Amino acid sequence: MGIYSSNMATIKIIGTAKKVHTRSIRSAANFFCDHLLKRLSKTVYVEIKLKKNLYKNTRCFGFATWTDDEARNHRRFEIEMDADLGPVFLFRTLAHELVHVRQYARKQLIDMQYGSYQKWHGVMFNEHMVEYKKLPWEIEATQLEKELYNLWKEHLERQGEKGEKVGYRKTT
Ligand SMILES: [Zn+2]
Repeated sequence: MGIYSSNMATIKIIGTAKKVHTRSIRSAANFFCDHLLKRLSKTVYVEIKLKKNLYKNTRCFGFATWTDDEARNHRRFEIEMDADLGPVFLFRTLAHELVHVRQYARKQLIDMQYGSYQKWHGVMFNEHMVEYKKLPWEIEATQLEKELYNLWKEHLERQGEKGEKVGYRKTT
């Protein structure tokens, strides 16, 4: 059910989500990576960590960062997501964080790794001076998470799944 086969991005999942099967998360991650990264997809490694109390501890539902610190072109990434997100929320958060992965992989977004500066298409931004919703990389991620989620849902519906059952775990 809902399996998307891809020979592309390497996805590793650590931990389990409360309401979504690991295999559905993997399929969705491959689907989103293929759509976002195209040919680049097969060169990336993404570790997805499902964490209890992530939101409680950080006030964030998800994070994306690279783990190959020394690399000039980042290809290894880590995504953290709250393990208790419901299916729609979880898939949208996953899509959102993978948009950030693309931004890093393509060097559209560069973390300056000191202070809170980031560079977007060559322009410096200070995260503390610009409202979250107005940061250009967040605008892009927020817009694309919805489009990607809808594509994923359509893909599953074509496979004969009911929209509202997308990715639900049958057992608790
Ligand atoms: Zn974001």
